[in-house]
Amino acid sequence: MHLDEHINGLGRDLKLRHGEKIHKLTINAPFTCPNRDGTLGRGGCTFCNNASFNGKTTSTLSIREQLEKSKPGMRAKRYLAYFQTYTNTYAEVKELQRLYEEALTTADIVGICVGTRPDCVPNAALDLLADYQQQGYEVWLELGLQSSFDKTLDRINRGHHFDAYVETVQRAHSRNLKICTHLIIGLPGEAPMDSMITLDRVIKVGCEGLKLHPLHIVKGSQMARQWKNGEIPAISQQDYAEVAAEMIQHTPWDVVYHRVSATARKPTLLAPEWCDNRWPILNDIARKLAAEGGQGSALTC
Ligand code: SF4
Repeated sequence: MHLDEHINGLGRDLKLRHGEKIHKLTINAPFTCPNRDGTLGRGGCTFCNNASFNGKTTSTLSIREQLEKSKPGMRAKRYLAYFQTYTNTYAEVKELQRLYEEALTTADIVGICVGTRPDCVPNAALDLLADYQQQGYEVWLELGLQSSFDKTLDRINRGHHFDAYVETVQRAHSRNLKICTHLIIGLPGEAPMDSMITLDRVIKVGCEGLKLHPLHIVKGSQMARQWKNGEIPAISQQDYAEVAAEMIQHTPWDVVYHRVSATARKPTLLAPEWCDNRWPILNDIARKLAAEGGQGSALTC
């Protein structure tokens, strides 16, 4: 099953616009998180792994070294540098500039993807990213929204509401920056219809990219304790495939899917077990899209 035949995936989008394969290389930059240190919240999101804040996962390599180390074995010759871990706009703008430009001046890097929280994106960071885009670099601002429901965001202790996301998207769009919105399927208290409502709200606000994730219960998170106590269930592979496929079918074709599922490794991953293997869920989603219609097929004029 070829998922790419049924969705407008990032690989396809980049190849069309750049004329060649472009791969994303993940960077672990020296950022932290304002939802833990009290700047924007305390305790962190309940799905987030505490171990990621004890320094064990911070890379000792520079950004350039991390990028160079990731290149061998890739089937592409040019790359996007992906600032993925923590809150990658949480620093003074001079420091942001230093880190982003170390990535952009590494050989064969054509752009950056910057992952962050919707409530931690100052205008100075947006201006910096817009400037890179004007210089011809590929730039994506990746916003972790997870849900459009404030009651869910409160329940998982995100520390922001949907209005913060809307406001940041508007400021980014006023600078012609592309947004990739991250959504989690299977959050506690949410039914499949809630994921569809969130998708609808996000499409109405406007975004250029989407990432779908199943809720991962990982060791060291507050959710791990709730899951062990039977307070929250883990989503099944079948339910995830159904919700993800329906969301894709309700997404306009011009929105680029950066990801439709995500994996985690045991023993960090506690549940659901199927999330430790990338391919079965991707095949399930591809099969559903092949049988019932691909991206945008459920939209009416
Ligand atoms: S998920 Fe992101 S925003 Fe939430 S606590 Fe972890 S690093 Fe911070």
